[in-house]
Amino acid sequence: MLSVMTTLKTHTCGQLRSEHAGQTVTLAGWVHRRRDHGGLTFIDLRDRWGVTQVVFNPDTSAESHALGRDLRAEYVVRVKGNVRRRPPGLENPSLPTGEIEVVAQEVETLNPAKTPPFYINEDTPVDEALRLRYRYLDLRRQRMQRNIILRHEVIKFIRDFLVQEGFVEVETPILFKSTPEGARDYLVPSRVHPGNFYALPQSPQQLKQLLMVAGYERYFQIARCFRDEDQRGDRQPEFTQLDVEISFVDRDDVMDIIERLYTAIVEQVSDKELLFKPFKRLRYHEAMERFGTDRPDMRFGMELTDISDIAAECDFRVFSETVASGGLVKGFKATGCGGYSRKQIDELNALVREFGAHGLAWLALEGEAEIRSSFAKFLTDEQVQDIVNRLGSKPGDLLLFIADRPEIANESLSRLRLALGERLGLRDSNVLALCWVTDFPFVTWDEEGQRWDPSHHLFTAPMDEDIHLLDADPGRARGKQYDLVCNGYEIAGGSIRIHRRELQEKVFSLIGLTLEEARQQFGHMLEAFEFGTPPHGGIATGIDRWVMLLADEPNIREVIAFPKSQSAADLMADTPSPVSEQQLKELHLKLDL
Ligand code: ASP
Repeated sequence: MLSVMTTLKTHTCGQLRSEHAGQTVTLAGWVHRRRDHGGLTFIDLRDRWGVTQVVFNPDTSAESHALGRDLRAEYVVRVKGNVRRRPPGLENPSLPTGEIEVVAQEVETLNPAKTPPFYINEDTPVDEALRLRYRYLDLRRQRMQRNIILRHEVIKFIRDFLVQEGFVEVETPILFKSTPEGARDYLVPSRVHPGNFYALPQSPQQLKQLLMVAGYERYFQIARCFRDEDQRGDRQPEFTQLDVEISFVDRDDVMDIIERLYTAIVEQVSDKELLFKPFKRLRYHEAMERFGTDRPDMRFGMELTDISDIAAECDFRVFSETVASGGLVKGFKATGCGGYSRKQIDELNALVREFGAHGLAWLALEGEAEIRSSFAKFLTDEQVQDIVNRLGSKPGDLLLFIADRPEIANESLSRLRLALGERLGLRDSNVLALCWVTDFPFVTWDEEGQRWDPSHHLFTAPMDEDIHLLDADPGRARGKQYDLVCNGYEIAGGSIRIHRRELQEKVFSLIGLTLEEARQQFGHMLEAFEFGTPPHGGIATGIDRWVMLLADEPNIREVIAFPKSQSAADLMADTPSPVSEQQLKELHLKLDL
């Protein structure tokens, strides 16, 4: 067993068992709970490894008993005492140390504690701002310690696994230059070079590619990345990626390593169950068609069905006009929801409106021939029957449809599908459904900027057979990109890179970067590519999200020791915060607020 003996303690609070009975030990930790009972005082003493019951008996030591009565929750104490088996019937089988207790002979308060602003010894809901303000106390709670230690185990596992596979870990700079992920940069003013700035890396993308030029062949890093994005949803301005780059590979090689790594993590570090072994694979278009999103939650069915062809012919104008103007009519069946009331359906309607849809068309199959519907009266019996059959519906089903522009129909149906999956208990958090999504469009059209944007980043290679489309019809070209998706989250993304200068320059010009601009931003890359660059590719996986899923937590802040708040602030250190005039002056900065 692990020994963490130090000058101040002989054993951990999670270590003692009945075989230690009779030994004199010294424990040190925090007072988890104190109880007074028939002349005796008990404390549960806690450290990172567990909890041990300590008894203060006036007959053993009147002095310690007196001191024991003064102990309060979260005092730091050191206790010397004798281990003894608990009297028969008083064992606590739910506690690993529950067979024994330590009878105190000496006790020393190493430090008293103020009453904490929330319970440390109970997992009760606490306002998050308060938790973040006192993060060190929050991190002292057992649930948080479990999460942080799980995170450590996952990272350790990753390191060991990749080292076994011939990877080397290389650190890359935090003070660098703008990187190509396309988010806003965090900038750091240079004192030495007035008017010039470093950018914090959005990822080590360029540097890991340069390490391939440098001949390292298999690189990884547990890398901190910085993106100054609006804090919509569950994001952090700084987050951690497992960053990987490999030479002489094609897509399958990279996916294979990550798939073996993630399978091993689930099987060896977690108690979760993998739904797909090997992982499922979906092409982008198939994912959009079947789930309305490129990061589907595949733990449950309720797949989308396109009924645009039937809708085009019907007299319900919302349907026919949507299809005539290039839109889609799609939907899915919610099994067992045929009895939903109008109020319940209205709630679903409100939900899809949040995602820009005009509204929900619905059809409830109550009995064999009993149909309630918002639109069936405008359709022929045959058309209704066609729809019912197309979705393979049975009595008790509720069919839900959206008629809208493809992006809106897909987005709102995918959100609705998740919400209903949640409501129907189909999203079992013990199950991890991992799936690769491939064959993404190489570029997407940005209406506002009137230009093509890379759908991954500008070093991603197009599929060889689609290179000719870059001139003729860029929107149809596919990229050598792959995303790993789990339970509705994108947990990794990567690609095979362009390794020839001509193709890289062609892509720069496709996305509207002049050669001049490209040289200014990425001159070092272009130059490097002329010195013998091997074919290479890589991936980055989000550590925070992955640990969140393994830990069964609802957001990534629960698995980051010191996260920022939703508004990108550190509430404990109260930062970002003003700096002195002198500091600004040294940096040659003037504020204009
Ligand atoms: N740098 C990319 C990202 O952070 C991942 C990659 O292409 O390896 O999304």
